[in-house]
Amino acid sequence: MMNIKRNVLLNPGPSTTTDTVKMAQVVPDICPREQEFAGMMKGLREDLLKVVHASPEKYTSVLFCGSGTINIDICLNSLLPEGKKVLIVNNGAYSARAVEICRYYGLPHIDLAFPVDELPDLALVEKTLKENPDIALVHTTHNETGTGILNPIREIGALAHKYGAVFTVDTTSTLAMRPINIEDDNIDFCMASAQKGLMAMTGLSFIIGNRTVIEASKEYPKRSYYCNLYLQYEFFEKTGEMHFTPPVQTIYAAMQALKEYFAEGEEEKWARHTRVFEAIHAGLDELGFKDVIKREWQSGLVVSVIYPDDKNWSFEKIHDYCYERGFTIYPGKISTSDTFRLCALGAIDEKDIKDFFIVLKEALKANNVQIPVQYKEA
Ligand SMILES: *Cc1c(COP(=O)(O)O)cnc(C)c1O
Repeated sequence: MMNIKRNVLLNPGPSTTTDTVKMAQVVPDICPREQEFAGMMKGLREDLLKVVHASPEKYTSVLFCGSGTINIDICLNSLLPEGKKVLIVNNGAYSARAVEICRYYGLPHIDLAFPVDELPDLALVEKTLKENPDIALVHTTHNETGTGILNPIREIGALAHKYGAVFTVDTTSTLAMRPINIEDDNIDFCMASAQKGLMAMTGLSFIIGNRTVIEASKEYPKRSYYCNLYLQYEFFEKTGEMHFTPPVQTIYAAMQALKEYFAEGEEEKWARHTRVFEAIHAGLDELGFKDVIKREWQSGLVVSVIYPDDKNWSFEKIHDYCYERGFTIYPGKISTSDTFRLCALGAIDEKDIKDFFIVLKEALKANNVQIPVQYKEA
């Protein structure tokens, strides 16, 4: 085992990984077209189903080489029948990205936009579905990673199904962290990439979804060659392989990460993320920081913190001070207010957060930012 410096990443992914996951990538060279490699991917795909309690009869998982955004792109461009519309329930940056994808492909869509610090209005979602019987696909984001707001996917999914639409959910920043049950949560398709909840490496993304719907999509317009869900699914079914070159070493890391996921256990892991999240809040409260989203609406994974009103506050300087000491903090993703984010994903625990707040406090002092931090009257 090599001695690798441990950094605590509080950005919203990639996350801090274990040394065993890092080292799992160091393997003898292998051609991914070998039977041995296809066999590994089969196991990996089955394990991914288990993470969201998906039965292998009804659901399947399809792997892609790319970052998480590739999943959103693939679901939207592949699962819309001719002449139908997408409804995006949009209250944040990642659903806004889905809207942008619809625009790029020229997909007919409704951008049902809500404020980024509010939950979507379900009555309005239902009204939209009722008035637009040509909506065939409803898409939203589970945990809007830009703010940390948790969307009511089970309720949105129920509405989608009531009006005969397929429900795709961007679960990139919850899957393998917050427990998900694909069937109970009314999800037809969910997705993530290996470097977030699974605590593995970047470059591998996956979609878990309803087999019958994928098979029906064979007849839908083909809007992309590289990013088509049916094509990749069919290739996996026929050969057990990815259509094109897979991210070989990343797949080894993901397999090790899944082993560690099941060893830790769904509930235990969620309890650990919750401990980390609460430690983040405790540390922020002590320094007087305010966050954007109502506490009861937060996903338990991302805290979006408002910049204090202090002439000495500089996110860059605070970031650099922490970064040099092994802690990475991340800018916000809200266009209307200045925020930064602290996230609870990765192979970290409460103690890391306590250590981080010692460093953050030093950083504030070193920059002459007043403690507790100050805000103008809100
Ligand atoms: C991280 C993330 C993505 C994917 O982002 P990439 O930069 O493509 O990895 C998509 N959706 C959500 C909600 C995310 O948190």
